[in-house]
Amino acid sequence: MIQRDILLKEHTSFRIGGNARYFLRAADIEELKKGLKEWKELSASFSDDEKRIFVLGGGTNLLVSENGFPGLVIHPEIKFIERSNSGAKVGAGDAVSSFVNFCLENSLSGFEWAGGLPGTIGGAIRGNAGAFGGETKDSIIEVESLDIDSLKTKRRNAAQCKFGYRDSVFKSGEGLNEIIISAQFSVETGDTDTVRAETDDHIEYRKDRHPLHLPNAGSIFKNVAVEKIRADVLKQFEGHIKNDPFPVLPAAKIIAQSGIVGHKIGGAQVSETHPNFIVSVEEATAQDVKDLIVFEQQEIKEKYNIDLEPEIMFVE
Ligand SMILES: Cc1cc2nc3c(=O)[nH]c(=O)nc-3n(C[C@H](O)[C@H](O)[C@H](O)COP(=O)(O)OP(=O)(O)OC[C@H]3O[C@@H](n4cnc5c(N)ncnc54)[C@H](O)[C@@H]3O)c2cc1C
Repeated sequence: MIQRDILLKEHTSFRIGGNARYFLRAADIEELKKGLKEWKELSASFSDDEKRIFVLGGGTNLLVSENGFPGLVIHPEIKFIERSNSGAKVGAGDAVSSFVNFCLENSLSGFEWAGGLPGTIGGAIRGNAGAFGGETKDSIIEVESLDIDSLKTKRRNAAQCKFGYRDSVFKSGEGLNEIIISAQFSVETGDTDTVRAETDDHIEYRKDRHPLHLPNAGSIFKNVAVEKIRADVLKQFEGHIKNDPFPVLPAAKIIAQSGIVGHKIGGAQVSETHPNFIVSVEEATAQDVKDLIVFEQQEIKEKYNIDLEPEIMFVE
């Protein structure tokens, strides 16, 4: 089941990244378990570095090194959407857009905020993706996952998932070694026209404001909690604080005001369309993007004494 030397740039929205030395696609939990057993035998004599496992969703939040990944990349392609009394159960490998479309077709309300959000359900749960005041956690009832070592499945309710701002138990807690398999979402019958109008609004907003014509990985930095910003600096940004999901100063505003929009390193550029995006204008390398991230962090620290924290994941 395990393939060799699969080019990761073809699996990332940034179109950057070398080979995964080993690659496993799994259409359901049984394939996943079978593949992981095969991996245990195959990797028995490997070094710790070569034994590492990375779970790849839609690749829309990643910066993958040109050197690729030395271990096993697992790509769960578990795709199904089932209606249930309390909402819907969705496979982790389904695109968020597939679930958004399912909600539109069935006039289901509660997930409109995710209109236009790229990536998979698994990726959205792990990072508690959010936009327009909504977050993935808001409609989660239960998440099912598979422990990579014990091959046992676990079920957690929303509280047990310990969701935080772009965070969950799967990102920084005891679920770190687990693959998200599926989730039960609470969505309820709503007014067809209202659900469609709200979802379409979000899709259109993204088309207008995001540099979708160039390879990118979405927002590079997390928005900054206002409590972490000095009062005199906050004054310079009056009127720009938003509640998403708590009072934050958008990283895009800070970058825009700092005057570094359009700055280029190699093939990577601070987007002129959305200042918190970096776009690959001339086949940027991962190093170009990393250098640009460090440049932005230094500039913002110097000008505003603010530490910008990356939202994207580095895979190397
Ligand atoms: C144009 C654009 C706009 C974006 N807008 C937003 C936005 O508004 N809000 C927002 O929050 N994000 C946004 N993003 C970032 C990104 O789309 C989200 O973070 C998304 O949820 C990532 O999902 P993914 O499937 O692509 O995950 P990947 O990028 O493949 O992986 C991200 C992380 O999730 C883990 N992961 C993926 N699947 C699983 C699984 N099944 N089990 C365990 N771990 C898993 C990976 O190991 C990795 O650590 C945007 C990105 C782009 C390109």
